[in-house]
Amino acid sequence: MTSTGSLRERSRGFLDSALDRLDVHDEMRYLMCTSYREVRFELPLRRSDGSMAVFQGYRIQHDQSRGPFKGGLRYHPDVDTDHFRALASAMTWKCAVVDVPFGGAKGGINCDPHSLSRFDLEVLTKRFVERLGSLIGPNVDIPAPDMGTGQREMAWIFEAYAQNHGHEPAVVTGKPLQLSGSHGRTEATGRGVALLTAWAAEGQGIRIKKSRIAIQGFGNVGRHAAQFLHEQGARIVAVSDVKGALYKEDGLDIPTLLTATQSSDGHTPVQDVEVGGKAITNEELLELDVDILIPAAIEGVLHEGNARNIKAKMIVEGANLPTTSEADDILYSRQVCIVPDILANAGGVTVSYLEWVQNRQRYRWTAQKVNDRLEEVMQAGWQSVCQRAKEEQSSYRMAAYVTAAQRVKEAIELRGF
Ligand code: NAD
Repeated sequence: MTSTGSLRERSRGFLDSALDRLDVHDEMRYLMCTSYREVRFELPLRRSDGSMAVFQGYRIQHDQSRGPFKGGLRYHPDVDTDHFRALASAMTWKCAVVDVPFGGAKGGINCDPHSLSRFDLEVLTKRFVERLGSLIGPNVDIPAPDMGTGQREMAWIFEAYAQNHGHEPAVVTGKPLQLSGSHGRTEATGRGVALLTAWAAEGQGIRIKKSRIAIQGFGNVGRHAAQFLHEQGARIVAVSDVKGALYKEDGLDIPTLLTATQSSDGHTPVQDVEVGGKAITNEELLELDVDILIPAAIEGVLHEGNARNIKAKMIVEGANLPTTSEADDILYSRQVCIVPDILANAGGVTVSYLEWVQNRQRYRWTAQKVNDRLEEVMQAGWQSVCQRAKEEQSSYRMAAYVTAAQRVKEAIELRGF
C-alpha cells in the first residue's frame, strides 16, 4: 500500500486543480477540502481462542451537502485516519459526478479479516456499530462494502443497528438479497467499470471485441469487470491478486478462473489455477503491452516510478485512487486516456443508492430494472464528463472533478450556512 500521508496529499492535488478552475474562494475551498466529522475509537476484542486484541475503528464523514454521508467500510491492517480522509473525500466527488444524492464518507477497522474467525469478525463488526451509535442511520450515514468486507458484514451491521433502532434496512447497503439487498449490487461496480471501458474504448478507436486487457485485482471489482468484458469478447490477458499475476498471450480462461478462485475458503490465488498461464508479478502486469489496463486492487499503484513504462493505450480506474498525481501528469502528457476512479467505479455507489431507494419504498425491483437504471446513471455521468472535457480541452479526470466540485459548491451555496 502507498504511504498513507502522501495518498491524501496526492489526491488533494486533483481537487485543488479543479477548484482553481472554478475559481473557488479560500473559505469555500477549506469547507470543500475538509472532513465534516472524523471519529476514531478503540475496539477491544476477546478472541474466540481466549486471547485479547485491540483494534481501531474509524468513520470519516466528508460532506453531506447533497445528501446523507455514504461510503464503504474497509477491513485492512494498514488503514488510518489520513487514508480514510482521502477515500471519504473521493466518495463525495464520486456521488456528485454521477448525480447520486449522497455525500461522502469512509471508514473501517485496522484488522486483517483473514486472520480472524467468523465469530470474532461478527463481534468486532457489531461492536463497531455500537460505538458509532447515532452517527449512522438511513438519513445520516449509510455504510457499504469495500475491501475486506461484503454482504456478510453488511448483514451484521443491519442486525446491530436494528437492536437499538428497530427494522431499518436502509441503514446499510450491499446486504444479502434475503435481507432487503438489491439485485445487481454485488456485481455493480464491475458492471459499471465494464460499461465505461466499452464507451471510452469506442472514443479511442479500440474495439472491445478482441481487445487485450490486463486487470490488477481479482476481488469484487476486478472479477466482475473481467466477467462482463470477457462476455463482450475482450481478451483478458492478465489478472492478479495480492499473491501475484497470471498472464496468457491469447487470453485467459475467465469462466474457469472465476469458478476456481471462488473456493469455499475464498482464497485460492489466481496463480494456482490451471489455465495454462504464466506467473508474473503485479508490477509486470501493470507494464504489459495491452490496449486497456484496469487497476482494480489498491491505491497508488501507478506512480512516478512506473508511469513512463505503462504501455496501455487506455486506463480504466476500477480501484480508488490508483494513480498518483505525478503519474497522472506523465500519462496525460503521453496521451494515455484515463477514465478516472470517481466515474469508472461509481457503479457500486449507484446501485447502493438504488438499494436504499428500494428499502425506503419497501419494494424490490427486478434485476433488469436495477441494471437499466445503473446504465442510465453511468451514461449520464459519462456524457457530462465527456462534454466538459471537450469544452475545456481537459482530461477526463479534470472534467470529472470540476463537474463534481461545481455540483457540491452549488449545493452548499443553495443551502446556506
Ligand atoms: P476486494 O477485497 O474484493 O479485492 C481486492 C483485490 O485486490 C483482491 O484480489 C486482492 O488479492 C487484491 N490485492 C490486495 N492487495 C493487493 C496488492 N498489494 N497488490 C495487488 N493486489 C492486491 O476489494 P474490491 O471491493 O474489489 O475493491 C478493490 C478496489 O476497488 C478498492 O480500491 C476499492 O476501494 C475499490 N472500489 C470497490 C467498490 C466495491 O463495490 N467493492 C466500489 C468502488 C471502488
